[in-house]
Amino acid sequence: MDALFIDGQWREPDTDPITVRSPVDDGVLGSVPSGTAEHVDEAVGATAAVATEFRELNVYERAEAVKAAMAAIEERADSIAETMAREVGKPVDEAREEIDSAVLSGRSYAEDAVRLFGEVTPSRFEDRLNYTQREPYGPAAVVTPWNYPLEIPTDHLSAALVTGNPVTWKPASDAVLTATHVAEAFARAPLPEGAFNFVPGSGSTVGAALAGHEAVRLVAFTGSTDVGQRIAARAAGRSAGCLLELGGKDPVLVLDDADVERAADAIVMGSNYNCGQSCSGTERVIATEAVYEDVVAAVSERTAALTTGDPLAADTDVGPPINDDVRETVRDHIADALDRGARVTAGGSVGDRYCEPTVLADVTPEMRVATEETFGPLTPVIEVADTDEAVAVANDTRYGLQAAVFTESLRTAHRVINALRSGGVVVNGTNNVWEHQLPFGGFKQSGSGGEYKGKWHLEGMTQVKSVAIDYGD
Ligand code: NAD
Repeated sequence: MDALFIDGQWREPDTDPITVRSPVDDGVLGSVPSGTAEHVDEAVGATAAVATEFRELNVYERAEAVKAAMAAIEERADSIAETMAREVGKPVDEAREEIDSAVLSGRSYAEDAVRLFGEVTPSRFEDRLNYTQREPYGPAAVVTPWNYPLEIPTDHLSAALVTGNPVTWKPASDAVLTATHVAEAFARAPLPEGAFNFVPGSGSTVGAALAGHEAVRLVAFTGSTDVGQRIAARAAGRSAGCLLELGGKDPVLVLDDADVERAADAIVMGSNYNCGQSCSGTERVIATEAVYEDVVAAVSERTAALTTGDPLAADTDVGPPINDDVRETVRDHIADALDRGARVTAGGSVGDRYCEPTVLADVTPEMRVATEETFGPLTPVIEVADTDEAVAVANDTRYGLQAAVFTESLRTAHRVINALRSGGVVVNGTNNVWEHQLPFGGFKQSGSGGEYKGKWHLEGMTQVKSVAIDYGD
């Protein structure tokens, strides 16, 4: 299988392969040759060589290229969804939803980019015209995770390319087969040679070489907070831009006057969609004492009814976690919580492959399940006295991605929206949600440097040039 796409050519180097194993049964699904630091150097060299031509290319032409890539993905959506389900264990319906959302976004970036306006600003001087325009950074690196292996890359790639940044992309090795489909779509798009490059490989070689490359002016990274911070430290040494979308420990607050049934539906979706492996997954439920027992009962009942199994089966709600690390974290978080006094009210068993969707009641804020990102189908429920304590517990974390609050009071909703230190707040719906025309990004250690989606993502991929024209005598 062709593996690397550099300077307009597919390459199949004789290097160590990345072998992809099924999270369902550990069977080998395929392998792809791995890139090296030398390949990164070549790819970044190609982006540097084409940067001026690409920046000067009419934005409508770049938009057409992105639309062509989206059409290519859409054409093969069924087979890509199947690859994704096999490779990362995502139920095939969820894989289809991811593709549809990604294609909608890719097309929207193409439309939004031709409306990325500058501003004319007043001047304190006579006979002077001031205005701003947005320009690309130049050679860019995109480094992506495995959990949304199609949507996250297509978002970053579409946004970077349509704004004129030539790109080198390193996908997650756990999702390299899905990534190869995406790479084929962009490789076939009418882009100048060198504008799009694809170099799979490990984070410690290819990822680190990209983040540290002297010629890379922007790193768009989505992944864990620890890796993102390491990348940002390297980029800081040459003042390169960084767009970081990182981890979360997202809370759902269920307050005294909440519609508990509605909250339970949203919580169960938020905790278990994508096997709980969403950056904005519901990682903590914080319920006031007035509703606590009802919340535990309603969430447990719904969680116990979920079907776990083969991601390709039509009735599967929850597939297997991606790898041993995720599964063992779920096991450890349950064990730690039980040791410290929590109780299991649904599920509770972690096998060799699957994690049963689990609800833990009587969780306290210092337990690992309440402080560390679990990234699995686990719902810890914490009891608090009132709204103020709910907000204090919700904010007591290094993360701040996407929170939700359930209340029937407009006044309470507004107070909580303002008090939560979180990049997004949803009222009376799941926190595990995104759409194109709403920015998605983190406060605190959940992200910095820009947002996903819409014009905000395009702004994160560009820098502002200010222009002053003196037309006096
Ligand atoms: P990860 O940080 O382990 O890996 C992400 C990418 O970084 C991979 O391609 C990996 O190979 C690469 N990488 C690893 N070490 C590197 C290094 N030293 N230098 C450069 N690149 C390196 O994350 P993951 O396990 O793939 O994804 C799960 C994490 O991503 C979770 O923390 C989740 O919350 C987060 N995430 C965040 C968002 C968001 O929008 N905020 C979206 C999806 C996932």
